[in-house]
Amino acid sequence: MSAAALTCEIVIIGGGLAGMTMAAALGSAGISTVLVDRDTAETRLAPAFDGRTTALAFGARRLMQAIGAWDAMAAEAQPILDIRVADDNSPLFLHYDHSEVGDDPLGWIVENRHIRWGLLQRLGALSGTVTHLCPVMANHVERAPAGVTVTLSDGREITARLAIAADGRASPLRQQAGIATDRWGYGQQAIVCTVAHEDPHNGVAIEHFMPSGPFAILPMTDDAEGRHRSSIVWTEKERLVPYYMQMDSAGFELALRRKFGDFWGRVSVLPSAGAASGNERFTYPLGLMLARHYAGERLALIGEAAHVVHPIAGQGFNLSVRDIAALAEAISDARALGQDAGGAEVLARYERWRRFDVATLAGTTDVLNRLFSNTEPVLKLARDLGLAAVGKVPPLKRFFMRHAMGTVGELPRLMRGEPL
Ligand SMILES: Cc1cc2nc3c(=O)[nH]c(=O)nc-3n(C[C@H](O)[C@H](O)[C@H](O)COP(=O)(O)OP(=O)(O)OC[C@H]3O[C@@H](n4cnc5c(N)ncnc54)[C@H](O)[C@@H]3O)c2cc1C
Repeated sequence: MSAAALTCEIVIIGGGLAGMTMAAALGSAGISTVLVDRDTAETRLAPAFDGRTTALAFGARRLMQAIGAWDAMAAEAQPILDIRVADDNSPLFLHYDHSEVGDDPLGWIVENRHIRWGLLQRLGALSGTVTHLCPVMANHVERAPAGVTVTLSDGREITARLAIAADGRASPLRQQAGIATDRWGYGQQAIVCTVAHEDPHNGVAIEHFMPSGPFAILPMTDDAEGRHRSSIVWTEKERLVPYYMQMDSAGFELALRRKFGDFWGRVSVLPSAGAASGNERFTYPLGLMLARHYAGERLALIGEAAHVVHPIAGQGFNLSVRDIAALAEAISDARALGQDAGGAEVLARYERWRRFDVATLAGTTDVLNRLFSNTEPVLKLARDLGLAAVGKVPPLKRFFMRHAMGTVGELPRLMRGEPL
């Protein structure tokens, strides 16, 4: 890439989890890339920036390894060995044990800030191929048959063969391109915090369906003081969220304990890492959004710029990882054949590859959330019978486990752990 002219093959707008992963995938394959984000790396790594963890599925971990980012986050990754799904106060529950499908964990829980750290380390090592520009806004993207020109807020221009929108759910780039979306809200928000508990979790993740929505307890690595930790994703009715957010720490802890139970001993809410106190609760609006197209002239959408799903199954970023693997492979294959890396054929292949997977997962999370977030007796009976049935039919159970691990379907090379 020429530093003065800022010319590259691919420009990525947005350095969240999706944009950084995409840049590391392209950079690892020697494809010159510019990544642009409005925030500094320090801002994006700060504990108060994002209190979430991500359940990285087995396939997503393989991609992180293939693009050279896994090693820098591996020490902070807690293997998921067992998943328990319970429906409110029903005695029936579903139990997924990793040993039913092999020796590997079902996935790994990693704090988002550690995933960002691992990706930033990798981008630093790829500095000959990937230029990470921040803090700077991409103000305008001019798309033409021969290429794109991105104008930055500091006046610089970047020219490339393809622009990738990884600029999040509001995606200014998607809007500028006039790509319509289908969307609806659930009247729910997620309250996220980290707790310490007396007893170890032994790698068990719990999804407890309650009338207000799912309450997830996700196992984390012990902290530096040896405390056993889990991440909480508490889905709550939107109108009640301000009530829980305004509670003092003692009141919130009490409310949380009532939901959590006492099976891992006494539970306490931890302040977010680095904060002396407070700051222990984060909220995120929940909804579904699907872009009608994932590509336009010289433009591809990835991550939440393309789709937002309910976190009920912990699949939003995993879906984005599959976008990244598919798009990186389409670009790399076109280059190997001497074709245009941002041309119509690449974009058509990407869109075809992703549409079915995204629609299926969005539909599944939508149905699950509607089915489980209510107290309707007939639905409750139906879902309890469903849970019992899946538990009693091993092939069906293994089918669901392999789907959650992201190891089924037409997997791109990076998802198989192979280089581009
Ligand atoms: C409560 C909760 C729990 C979740 N748990 C899981 C889970 O367990 N597993 C899972 O797979 N997924 C999970 N997800 C989903 C996952 O967190 C998201 O998919 C992911 O964080 C979205 O990343 P992104 O990079 O697509 O978007 P963003 O994080 O929104 O990144 C967009 C970036 O673009 C930048 N940007 C925007 N516009 C511009 C511009 N014009 N110029 C420069 N920069 C710009 C922003 O600064 C930002 O850094 C969860 C989501 C929620 C809400």
